[in-house]
Amino acid sequence: MNSLPLIRHSERVDYKRCPKKWFWRWRMGLVPKAKTFGALELGTWFHSTLAAWYSQPDREGLSLTAWFKHFAELAIGGAKNIGAPDYTLEKADELAALGEAMATAYQKKYGADPAIIPIVAEIPLEFDLTDADGKVFAKHKLKPDLVYREAANPDYVWLMEHKTAAQIRTEHLVIDDQARPYGAMAEISLRRAGVLRKSDVFKGIMYNFVRKALTDERPVNEQGQSLNKNGSVSAKQPVPTLMRFPVTLTKASKRIAISRLRIEAGIITGMTEALRSKKVDPALLPKTPHSSCPKLCPFFTMCVVEEQGGDIKEMQRTMYERRDPYLYEEESTEVLTSFELS
Ligand code: SF4
Repeated sequence: MNSLPLIRHSERVDYKRCPKKWFWRWRMGLVPKAKTFGALELGTWFHSTLAAWYSQPDREGLSLTAWFKHFAELAIGGAKNIGAPDYTLEKADELAALGEAMATAYQKKYGADPAIIPIVAEIPLEFDLTDADGKVFAKHKLKPDLVYREAANPDYVWLMEHKTAAQIRTEHLVIDDQARPYGAMAEISLRRAGVLRKSDVFKGIMYNFVRKALTDERPVNEQGQSLNKNGSVSAKQPVPTLMRFPVTLTKASKRIAISRLRIEAGIITGMTEALRSKKVDPALLPKTPHSSCPKLCPFFTMCVVEEQGGDIKEMQRTMYERRDPYLYEEESTEVLTSFELS
């Protein structure tokens, strides 16, 4: 068993978003019992699809849409088996149809993707976080979506991060909180694991955007412009659904990303210790209410009840189960009777 504290990217995100949310998920291990199908599931299916796709030695002639259908059907079948209600299953079917359209558009644009030579997809890595004296105080888990070589320059290695998004936004990517630290940690971890050759030059992150959108079925002219029914060029041209956006990482940006990780991990492990030793009462942890809470926080209802002075212990028993948050989803099959601070 790993005796050093573990840290995950989504844990840092949760802690910085709202310490109470972090406590419920990462110290109590709470996850909602009710299965919903939304942006998170679509992203998971698409990531699994691309991981399987890029792991094939020869992608020529293989249908990406068929891979996607496989992963969506697997999840929907699982929900059916545990008696998910019809409205949930209908939502899941709609999501699967959207994902199939996205997979078809992806393969139409990139084909077998000959520009990419995959090295490894979704490799689980651990990065040692050290304190000011160089002593390892925590391990950061990471699983980059894809490590690949440029076919045109095989010594150039990139991390590809797949992003399924309602809108493609790129302005913030130079300060991105996931891929940038991932790149800095992965380069060192991959060299240590012997995955990268000495001659390999680690370039940075290639964001692989796939917009959540159905295909524009309108006819197009020779310039690729969408046409109206009468054959004239439409004033409403489709927004691109696929985009690759590179962010190269300099030595300085990698150093800064790792320093920030150390600081954040130090704060989180310190708070964990204070909660375990009862120096901090969980009831006094700050909350960060925001208009996105109802949609994006799985603890919203419980949070409301707590703010009204209600009994949330019963809600924790009936609405949530406990799972080890430090396990990846495919490993986290076991429902626990308790987790750390339950
Ligand atoms: S609902 Fe908002 S304030 Fe409450 S725990 Fe979730 S993120 Fe924090």
